Amino acid sequence: MLSKPSSAMPTFPSSSEDRSGFCVWPDLRQLCIRKSLLYGVMRLFSLPLKTLRGASRSLRVDQFCSVVNISSSLQIELVPCLGDNYAYLLHDTDTGTVGVVDPSEAAPIIDALSKKDRNLTYILNTHYHHDHTGGNTELKERYGAKVIGLGIDKDKIPGIDIYLSDGDTWMFAGHEVLIMATPGHTQGHISFYFPGSGAIFTGDTLLSLSCGKLFEGTPEQMLSSLKKIMSLPDNTNIYCGHEHTLSNSEFALSIEPKNEDLQSYAAHVAHLRNKGLPTIPTTLKVEKACNPFLRAFSTEIRKKLNIAATADDAEALRIIRQAKDNF
Ligand SMILES: [Zn+2]
Repeated sequence: MLSKPSSAMPTFPSSSEDRSGFCVWPDLRQLCIRKSLLYGVMRLFSLPLKTLRGASRSLRVDQFCSVVNISSSLQIELVPCLGDNYAYLLHDTDTGTVGVVDPSEAAPIIDALSKKDRNLTYILNTHYHHDHTGGNTELKERYGAKVIGLGIDKDKIPGIDIYLSDGDTWMFAGHEVLIMATPGHTQGHISFYFPGSGAIFTGDTLLSLSCGKLFEGTPEQMLSSLKKIMSLPDNTNIYCGHEHTLSNSEFALSIEPKNEDLQSYAAHVAHLRNKGLPTIPTTLKVEKACNPFLRAFSTEIRKKLNIAATADDAEALRIIRQAKDNF
């Protein structure tokens, strides 16, 4: 069974603040830090705020407070692509090595790299879908980058060079990367876990307040994949493939309206999106408290969707997924 989270949720900042408790506008900095001291301190060493700077151009937000992620030499920059996809630039500050996770298109990646005069060494793909690999060929040709993905999908991932398997450890410029098979959305879906940075790239397996559609896998597979991710530390930052959090929150609230943590997170998400800010990364702690696909134990969800008390978690997940598909 999925177990109930035991610890309390972090509080979310309310107004005049960005998603991490730091202000968007410099003249409000002191106010922001005072108002969200607890949340800000919790996030200070775990959230790479440079992601927000990277997103500022596309999201039309001009100024962000500058925060250095001192916990690791790995910088993660969020790059909006297509309509609602995110690619992520990985930059090792010690060696200058750069990678990109799931480039759905090349242009925004080239733009982001050009601005900092950086090269691209690696392309990491969580799965073969075009909205995660569409930029592979052009980026590989331009930079000579090596494409990394799951070996069983070698015929579907454009330009793949390095074949990985479940349980492999791959090194990105000295950073350990654990390869976790997380099937369900596709059979060959993997997640990239960077334990040293407390970050995981979950593609279309775990999204904030949802999980990917079950195109190729079974509810049992998706449940097992989600449980693998749930076994990581609660403060793990989750970088998923899409900005769907606001619409996901509407569904989540419809089936668990009395969940106070969810109410609070949904309000926070609405506030961020209203300002054109990203909701990613989320954390495992937030998802355990709010994401209906990690909460098959919830009596409120089971009641709302007429899921029998005797139904196992995979059956509950199947019904929750079906309800979401029809929402
Ligand atoms: Zn996909």
